[in-house]
Parts: sequence; C-alpha cells; structure tokens
Amino acid sequence: MSEVRKVAVVGAGTMGSGIALVAASSGFDVALIDVSSEQLERAAAYHARTLDRNVQKERMTQDEADAAKERIVAVTSMADASDADWVVEAATENIDVKKSLFQEMHSTFGDEVVLATNTSSISITELASAVAGAEDRVIGMHFFNPVPIMKLVEVIKGKATSEQTTARTIELSEAMGKTPIPANDFAGFVSNRVLMPMINEAFHAWSDGVAEPEAIDSIMTLGCNFPMGPLRLADHIGLDVCRDIMLVMHAGLGDDKYLPSPRLVELVEEGRLGNKTGHGVYDHSS
Ligand code: NAD
Repeated sequence: MSEVRKVAVVGAGTMGSGIALVAASSGFDVALIDVSSEQLERAAAYHARTLDRNVQKERMTQDEADAAKERIVAVTSMADASDADWVVEAATENIDVKKSLFQEMHSTFGDEVVLATNTSSISITELASAVAGAEDRVIGMHFFNPVPIMKLVEVIKGKATSEQTTARTIELSEAMGKTPIPANDFAGFVSNRVLMPMINEAFHAWSDGVAEPEAIDSIMTLGCNFPMGPLRLADHIGLDVCRDIMLVMHAGLGDDKYLPSPRLVELVEEGRLGNKTGHGVYDHSS
C-alpha cells in the first residue's frame, strides 16, 4: 500500500477549500479540483488570507505558510490530478452529481486510491454502487466547518468498505490533526441527524413568529451554551446545503419531520445562501 503524499480534493467550495488548506498545512501535496475557475480563485484568496493570519498570530512561520501555499495546485480537470494517492470528494450535496464524480474518480485514480466523500448525509453504500469493483475503497470522511478549526472527522463505512480503507482513513485524518470518530451509514449519520432538525426547527420558530432570528440565536447561545445560534450556524454552513441535507434525510429516513422548513427553502430560492453569498438569514455583505 503506497504512502499518501498527494491528496486530490474535488470541489473548491466552503469545505473543499478548507480540506485542501488543512492537507497542505499538514505537509501533503494537494490538487484542488473544481469545474468553476471562479471558485478556485476564491479558494486561493481564502488560503492566502488564512495563512497570512496564521503567520500574524504566530501559529506558523512565513516559510511554513509559503510552503503550504505552494503545495496546492488548482485544476479544472480531474485528469490533471491523476497522480494523487488519495481523493476526497467535496462537491455539491446531490446524489447524481456525486455518483457521476465517483465514476470519474474511479476511472482517473490508481486502483489503490481511497475514494472518500465529505458528504453530510448521502449513503456511502449508495455512492459505492456507482463504482463497481471499487466499493471496498469508498468511505465517508466527513470534515466539519470551518475545517481548519473543527477537530472532528466522522468516518462512515459503507456495506463493502474494507477494514484497510477504514484504518487508512483514520490514519490520514490523524495525520491532518483531526480526531476521527466512526458512525454507521444512515442518512445524516450522527452529526447532521442531530444538528439539522434543530436548525430546521429554528426556521419554523422564526416563521411561526416565536421570535426574530437574533432572539432565537441569543436564546440558544445564552440558554444552551452553544457557541453560535442555529440560524447563524445555518448561514455559516450554507442554506442550500442545509436544505439539501434535510431532503436527503427525508428521502433516506422516510419521515416528514425531516422536510425542510418552507422559510429555509424560500431563502434558498431567493439566492440567499448565507455567508458565501453575503446574505442568508443575516446580512453578511460587510
Ligand atoms: P459549496 O456549494 O460551497 O461547494 C461545492 C463546490 O463543488 C462548488 O465550488 C462547485 O463548483 C463544485 N462542484 C460542483 N460540481 C462539481 C463537479 N462536477 N466537479 C468539481 N466540482 C464541482 O458546498 P460545500 O459547503 O463546500 O459542501 C461540499 C460538500 O461538503 C457537500 O457534500 C456538503 O454536504 C458537505 N459538507 C458541508 C459542510 C458545510 O458546513 N458547508 C459541512 C460538512 C460537509
């Protein structure tokens, strides 16, 4: 089994850009892949900003920051990253998009390469069904947002995931400074099965007129000691991502309690996706 030297990250959005930064800061070469050059430019700006801040705060030296930046190569075609020894898919939370990406990953990367996904909710076994013959190398490697700060990686085995793939995923997560914790393959796993209904309920509380967003968030931060209220957290995650996770849990767990709140859906349809678009529940334009 070859040592991991180069990690390919598919999708350069909120999560992919964070995973790429953490991998590069941990000494891995990184190929960051996205269909959108604009997203790749945004990711590069985020990397430069974050590394500069790390230097200012004396978390790393200027040389370490420069080296991390240089280790990341941005590409728009997966074929240009085919020499990677590991791939983590962090594209849009949509089963069809991910299945077709898994097929491309299977045909692009070598036959020892682990095909990991950062999906928040989609069944690993179902994703593995897209890559006949490589199901044992498919695994959930679920990082949290913001990736450089959050310690957890939820590790999810599909039905056919091998022990070796699991052990290697745990090893790589630790090499990236994370704490891997296993969960079983149910829609939403543990983290989102518990978190998303709470976020969704906060949208219901808002639209029912129980309180305005600031009050809902303050009540949950002061009353439950949460570091961030559920509506602010939803903006941070991305309202489209929250809606998509609820839809996957609704389909996978078959209970209407997982239907996304109409207020959440409405904001997504208006293009108010949260921090990433400058406006969600809150205005982030400044
Ligand atoms: P995002 O919308 O910020 O980014 C998704 C990226 O995928 C975009 O840059 C898009 O251009 C790219 N993309 C779409 N199709 C592609 C393709 N065919 N090839 C290459 N790139 C493609 O989404 P995100 O928030 O980064 O979420 C990515 C994944 O991580 C999702 O599965 C999501 O559920 C999961 N996740 C999100 C969070 C969060 O807090 N946002 C946390 C944990 C896991």
